Amino acid sequence: MERSPHMSSQEFRDAGKRLIDWLADYYDEVERYPVLAQVAPDQIRTSLPQEPPQSQTEFAQILNTVNSKIMPGITHWQSPNFFAYFPANSSGASVLGDLLSSGLGVQGMLWATSPACTEVEMLVLDWLVKMLGLPETFLSSGKGGGVIQDSASSSSLCAILAARERATGFRSNEYGCREELVAYTSTQAHSSIEKDIKVSGIGSRNLRLIDVDANFAMRPESLEKVIEEDKLAGKLPFIVCATAGTTSSLAFDPLEAIGQICKKHNLWLHVDAAMAGTAALCPEFRHIHRGLELADSYCFDAHKWMFTNFDCSCFYVADRETLIRSLDVLPEYLRNQAAGPGAVFEYRNWHVPLGRRFRALKLWFVIQHYGVEGLQFLVRRHVEIAQTFLKWVRNDSRFEVMAPAPLNLICFRLNASDEVNEELLQRINRGGRLYVSHTRLNGKYTIRFCVAQTNTELPHVQRAWHAICDEAAALLNARRV
Ligand code: PLP
Repeated sequence: MERSPHMSSQEFRDAGKRLIDWLADYYDEVERYPVLAQVAPDQIRTSLPQEPPQSQTEFAQILNTVNSKIMPGITHWQSPNFFAYFPANSSGASVLGDLLSSGLGVQGMLWATSPACTEVEMLVLDWLVKMLGLPETFLSSGKGGGVIQDSASSSSLCAILAARERATGFRSNEYGCREELVAYTSTQAHSSIEKDIKVSGIGSRNLRLIDVDANFAMRPESLEKVIEEDKLAGKLPFIVCATAGTTSSLAFDPLEAIGQICKKHNLWLHVDAAMAGTAALCPEFRHIHRGLELADSYCFDAHKWMFTNFDCSCFYVADRETLIRSLDVLPEYLRNQAAGPGAVFEYRNWHVPLGRRFRALKLWFVIQHYGVEGLQFLVRRHVEIAQTFLKWVRNDSRFEVMAPAPLNLICFRLNASDEVNEELLQRINRGGRLYVSHTRLNGKYTIRFCVAQTNTELPHVQRAWHAICDEAAALLNARRV
């Protein structure tokens, strides 16, 4: 090879500018694409060369292929017409923070391998305690602290592992689970809890799904009854995973009552506020966390609603020693001067992976760019727009609202069969003007409409409502003929 195959710094500079321009154009024009990718399975893979290139490809050519072959397979999560699932919203500030993290290429597995990676993370997670009005027990200056995980699923897994060790006096780490440990969550909890229970060796047979009230919130009296039955049967109840904002309907489990039960029976309380936690930026929505001071751990995903691109799940514990002791393994090759007990935070002991990206940078960029007031303004606006949408649904007798909608998720359906509602959802998404997803509430097929994409404004929701009404009218007419 005559010349180095690496990008020269000039090539990197030129290509980087082109890519930022490309992204800026994309954000400007994102509404021109159908929100949900309209491709058949395997279409993208088979449209690309099946053999790897032997020689170098020009950057311009790579971008051309992105435009022609990759973009058709993109579902546009950053479209303001994305109302499906919970969002994975983003922002310019976040993307640039993430780019800086990639560019620095830091692997922050130890404090010593990049002290700033650890210390900015500690700082930003302490900021968030104050910004969301979380209990002070989660501050790093006390016995607790926060850490960024890749996802809420991983955050909950770590909570379960720490709770398992606390309940067994750290014996399950040494000998495996001997006791029959039992965990509790509601029927409405996210599926990640069940997955975590499987991964942690507890066994899904030992996960109790507690029933919920008419608002889809866990019934504390049912929880206590089941815990008592398990104790009588000689089992070891060890954790309750409560949810602040369930995936299906954004229901809020009563944390205060659940927390009291956990204290009484000596169970770990983990609170999963994956999407809704961000609402607590606004003091008027902090009631969603009432009782959180009784929790041993908590997580919310900044990558859902807080304008920070995936992945960025913020996980807190009130007693970091239990978490660290549960996950600590220190081989000789990781020993270093700073690694003396408690001298600095060693985040490798706060989650499963050893290696870690400098994810705090994007969060730090976001918080500085918007400021607390900017973030509050955006969250309030999303809630206000969602509440306007709720009124439109309520005032249209063809539809029914399926769950309380205190924030930014509206669950509704046509007053018709499940089959009709399923067809309505498919028609809406095929149309490409917006993207919604579904769930099942009280056994009924339900459409979910979540307002949380970065650039969603009232006109987007107005157009979405018209599109939904048009599709509903066309569907009902077609069925009448
Ligand atoms: N918990 C709740 C309440 C959720 O809604 C979700 C995803 O939507 C998760 C956990 C899982 O999130 P993640 O993808 O960060 O693991």
